[in-house]
Amino acid sequence: MKERVFVFAALPYVNSSLHLGHIAGAYLPYDVFRRFLKLRGYDVISSSGSDEHGTPVTVRAIREGIPPQDIVEKFHKINLEIFKKMSIEFDAYIETSSKLHKEITSKFLKTLKDNGYIYEAEMIQPFCVLENIFLADRYVKGKCPNCGYESATGDQCENCGRTMEPGELIDPICIFDQSTPEFRETKHLFFKLTSFQDQLLEYIESKGSWRQNVLSFSKNFIANGLKDRPITRDLNWGVDVPFEGYEDKRIYVWIEALIGYVTGVASVLGNTEDAYKLWNNPNLKYYHFVGKDNIVFHSIIWPGMLIAHGNMTLPYVIAANEFLNFKGEKFSKSKGTGFSMLQMLEKYNSEFIRFGVLYNLPEEHDSDFSVEDFENRVNTELIDKFGNFVNRALTLAFKRGPITVDQIAQNELDQKAENRIRSSISDIITQMDGVHIRSAFRTWLDLAYYGNTYITNRKPWDACKKDDANCNAAIYTGVKLVYALAVTGQIFLPETAKRILSWLGYEDQVELREDLNFPVSKLTEKPERLFEKIVNKELNLRLQVARIEDVTDIPDADKLYLLDLDLGDSKRRIVSGIKNNYTKDSLKGKRIVVVTNLKPAVIRGQTSNGMLLAAEDENGIHLVLAPDSTTSGEEVKIGDLLTNATEISIEEFRKFSIKTIKRDSNVVPALFHEDKPLFLEIQSGRLFLDGSPKEGLKIK
Ligand SMILES: [Zn+2]
Ligand SMILES: [Zn+2]
Repeated sequence: MKERVFVFAALPYVNSSLHLGHIAGAYLPYDVFRRFLKLRGYDVISSSGSDEHGTPVTVRAIREGIPPQDIVEKFHKINLEIFKKMSIEFDAYIETSSKLHKEITSKFLKTLKDNGYIYEAEMIQPFCVLENIFLADRYVKGKCPNCGYESATGDQCENCGRTMEPGELIDPICIFDQSTPEFRETKHLFFKLTSFQDQLLEYIESKGSWRQNVLSFSKNFIANGLKDRPITRDLNWGVDVPFEGYEDKRIYVWIEALIGYVTGVASVLGNTEDAYKLWNNPNLKYYHFVGKDNIVFHSIIWPGMLIAHGNMTLPYVIAANEFLNFKGEKFSKSKGTGFSMLQMLEKYNSEFIRFGVLYNLPEEHDSDFSVEDFENRVNTELIDKFGNFVNRALTLAFKRGPITVDQIAQNELDQKAENRIRSSISDIITQMDGVHIRSAFRTWLDLAYYGNTYITNRKPWDACKKDDANCNAAIYTGVKLVYALAVTGQIFLPETAKRILSWLGYEDQVELREDLNFPVSKLTEKPERLFEKIVNKELNLRLQVARIEDVTDIPDADKLYLLDLDLGDSKRRIVSGIKNNYTKDSLKGKRIVVVTNLKPAVIRGQTSNGMLLAAEDENGIHLVLAPDSTTSGEEVKIGDLLTNATEISIEEFRKFSIKTIKRDSNVVPALFHEDKPLFLEIQSGRLFLDGSPKEGLKIK
């Protein structure tokens, strides 16, 4: 095992549940990186947890008239459920109201005080005379002195982003009773951040490889001059202050939430002393994943606390993402923009969400999220390219059966594919080592596109008709590509990768190595389709497979037959003009495709309850057949659309056009809808046209 590393994700407030912006900002990149380190053999300790104190929680509790503990428990549970569904894992997920955290916080602050970095000072705070309490910054509302926004709070203007002191607000009021607060002196403890101005600047300047956003935020923050920060509040919700005279105050949440990382490591190890021992190792590397709005707390203030504490190595990397915007606006629960994760998870497979977020990861710049774009990418890139490639390659391998290495004769395309696999794996490792998660993901996706192109150009189905060793080489290379995608995919889409690896015979995780060994094909079961597409559109057309039970003539109609059809749970009769092309005997028992939601029509005195699909050329009529189908009444899928069965008129039916088009060297029927071809598919096998008709025929 390689060395010990820590990976942390910022502790979210639990005044509401997580939304997609949080997942994109910190938690998914955190999880991807943690998985990468584990698969590379590092001894990883990872943690995060619920930041349960602070005024966002108490404000909500007071508004809803319930204890803050109820709010905290509710959202802690919901967030854990979200992480579980998203396959985002932690070695420890702490709660800052826990006994261990309170103990660790107390001790940490005592050390800071003993080292001379905590002092007492008076400050002016708003005081509500009606309630007889000091008001926390967020308990005061007023007009922003900067932009004039009416509901700025005492810590920050939500509109222009300016941070401020409550005393700067114009016409401040108490948010609970709208009374005008007085500003009174109150005693608080302060952390002497100013002592570390030079050391922190030096630290930031030594981190040239950090992301640009982190560096520029941090440098600006130092350049503006560091300020000592209050570490206590006039509140009753929070961690007790371990010093005399502070019994009715609490620790300010920003400082104890940061100490939560120590609590995380201590909970994993089951021992606080061991946590400090690891932290004391000057070669310790650890990574913080945080949102953009949390950068300076992690890059400046937290390192300042660690220096003040002593014997603690500073963070190796602070990785902060920009914002994921929903139609150009910052995701925000309070403004009601964006999506709650629970809503997303109800609608979409979690691997789709991971894919969609990674595709648009706001690593260097803000990025936009739209549902339409997300669904489209999942369908056309994840499913049509990656999923389709995996399915084609593994289905061919399964049909071929076991191959041994001495039965393989590679050609140039196979050699190229091998090189491409090696270089992609090595690129992914290098990119991930540098915490460039978006680039690594794109490299992975490019390899999937490459696989798709490889198989199309290599045409194993042709090779396998002629030359065994050549055919084996194509199939073996296809499996290698799939295997490489699955092994590297373990970090991005863990559930999907796990399924593919298990088809290939691997029940455990596979270590990610540059010199990956490739298995020869040993598929024991037919691979299933990896994903079902996201379907939103409905189409009013129902096609079903029917078995022809009986064929009879219609008096005086020399082109028409009366067909008795079995549809599984029902029977029906249709009139069809195929008498000149098919004998009665040749039709009996055939499985055909029938439109079953067509309004009944009377033809030559006979009621026809539907219409069969057939194409016509100069040689006559060609039926659409489903010989592999064993279930009468089987539904025919039309592209990725949902079908419904409201009765349609023949005029409405004629708005669809059904034509024959070429697919994988076969001529197959397809439905054209808004000029896009939609393939007709059945679960049990292939649909094809009787005879050898040409491409481009219209089906009637
Ligand atoms: Zn008040
Ligand atoms: Zn403002």
